[in-house]
Amino acid sequence: MNIENVLIEGINALQISRVSNPQLDSEILLSNSINKDKKHIILNPKEILNTDQLTNFKNLIERRKKGEPIAYLINKKEFWNNEFFVNKDVLIPRPDTELIIEEVLKIYSKNTQLQVLDIGTGSGCILLSILKERSNFYGTGIDISKKSINVSKFNAKHLNLNNRVKFFHSSVDNFKIGKYDLIVSNPPYIELLSLKYLEKDVVNFEPKLALSGGFDGFSKIRKVISKASALIKKNGKFILEIGFNQKNKVMKILKEEGFYINKAIKDYGNNDRCIISTKI
Ligand code: GLN
Repeated sequence: MNIENVLIEGINALQISRVSNPQLDSEILLSNSINKDKKHIILNPKEILNTDQLTNFKNLIERRKKGEPIAYLINKKEFWNNEFFVNKDVLIPRPDTELIIEEVLKIYSKNTQLQVLDIGTGSGCILLSILKERSNFYGTGIDISKKSINVSKFNAKHLNLNNRVKFFHSSVDNFKIGKYDLIVSNPPYIELLSLKYLEKDVVNFEPKLALSGGFDGFSKIRKVISKASALIKKNGKFILEIGFNQKNKVMKILKEEGFYINKAIKDYGNNDRCIISTKI
């Protein structure tokens, strides 16, 4: 079978299963199966696929039909300026989380030298994106998931940041190393009852550990704030991603833990998404 025909089969299969972008998804999965970019597929419709490529593509289409996110099928996701390796052990980086990077870059000029801690680093996308942009920053990332630490280490190596970053497998409670000028975190903040209402692709495939904020959604945020308060230097900045309905309560907790609120930022959907504070 040639590229054109295989692609049509893929699109039809996804359409029948009501996947929302059948054409785009099929093109991405096909280009991944034959290890060529999308342009190659458009320009070479008559190219014949070998058996391995065909099997590969069919398997990916079957998995996509069941709702598995594209990022897990091709093991990569763009975030800020880089491509990150991802698998089911880590949350897929979200565009809204890029707000944290934007704010960091606004606060610190190119030649600032500092220590940054990322609590619940997952794929490492936040920490590594920051380090890529600021060559005098030194980073530490922690995560309770051992498997996610393998992913973040892999991404650090791939982005040539090995010499400026350390990753530790640790819960937030047990981590006690260092003092930091800047702390960032995108902790799990979805409340228990809302978990099942997330998009099917999210709830069925992404790690609950990275999403679930316990009964009221605040159980991990509370721990992260109190740890940040203990490990941050005086006048250090703390940038925290939060759920759309958590701003007021989180600001209250931050104040109780000795932080001054600089500002709250809305995401691209106009929801409160991020709070910037300073330790006083
Ligand atoms: N923003 C993510 C979602 O809506 C949740 C991320 C998190 O809990 N930190 O799927």
